[in-house]
Amino acid sequence: MGEAVLELEDVTVRFRLRRGDLTAVNGVSFAIARGETFGLVGESGSGKSVTARAIMRLIPHPPGEIQSGRILFEGEHVLAKSDAEMRALRGRRIAMVFQEPMSALNPVFTVHDQISDALRTNLKLSKAEARERVIELLSQVGIPSPHKRLDSYVHEFSGGMRQRVMLAMALSCSPSLLIADEPTTALDVTIQATILELITGMIERLGMSLLFITHNLGVVAHACDKIGVMYASHLVELGDKREIFANPQHPYTIGLLNSIPRLDAQSKYLTPIQGSVCNMMEPPTGCKFHPRCAHAMDLCRREVPKFREIAPGHMAACHLHGQG
Ligand code: SF4
Repeated sequence: MGEAVLELEDVTVRFRLRRGDLTAVNGVSFAIARGETFGLVGESGSGKSVTARAIMRLIPHPPGEIQSGRILFEGEHVLAKSDAEMRALRGRRIAMVFQEPMSALNPVFTVHDQISDALRTNLKLSKAEARERVIELLSQVGIPSPHKRLDSYVHEFSGGMRQRVMLAMALSCSPSLLIADEPTTALDVTIQATILELITGMIERLGMSLLFITHNLGVVAHACDKIGVMYASHLVELGDKREIFANPQHPYTIGLLNSIPRLDAQSKYLTPIQGSVCNMMEPPTGCKFHPRCAHAMDLCRREVPKFREIAPGHMAACHLHGQG
């Protein structure tokens, strides 16, 4: 792997709720190299978005807490930074695009005001320079007639156009890392493909790294070099995209792959993963996937499988691949 932009080592995030403690991220470790695109995949509630928010130090405290582990961004310890240092990091060096652009965009300011605000604060551009840069950014993300649209409000844009505005804002300060949290989920299928192409194209052109969060393995097949699969707070499989698609080792990853529609499929029916995600307030003992796993053994119900390397660069946490 080349120089790492982001490294997570054994990160655990816990929430102290009235009903009890909930571990949303459990000992997660992975790294993203400069220029690499990394897809973090799993069903809702697996801990993907909490992992992203932990990287940005956006876990609400209380009730949440990054309980242990290390997060290194360009060699700097994110968890040791002051609030002021984190504010300087967010937007400028790590940017985030959310599933619902309206949650990040302000409805009472024009698109120009929102993007230029980031430019003027982070890059100290003059008013005129910022305006020019906003027009350039809107044009880069494919907003037609940007010089006319920049004084519009976000409610005047369609869902796909709002996501383009969000992307323009995220890319405005040329961050080293873009975190995209389900950026295409709320859009219809044709717009999804366009936004996905736009993100991957911009990432490549600007030489940034990408952490792409999605529940859809089909999406990461197009967008990412490397894949991490999360289930019920644990990272259960990690590896190069080609290796994961050609040779998946964890039964959960295999289940996700079987649920992707394929044109060359023998059957017209998809094979869903049986059951549903466990209750994280009362997770099962041992491997948390065991109630849904066709290969579950006694050992699986007793012991959490270790995350181990099963081939060069390919890791999985499953008792089928060695014990102890
Ligand atoms: S550890 Fe056991 S239950 Fe868990 S995925 Fe592997 S075989 Fe299935």
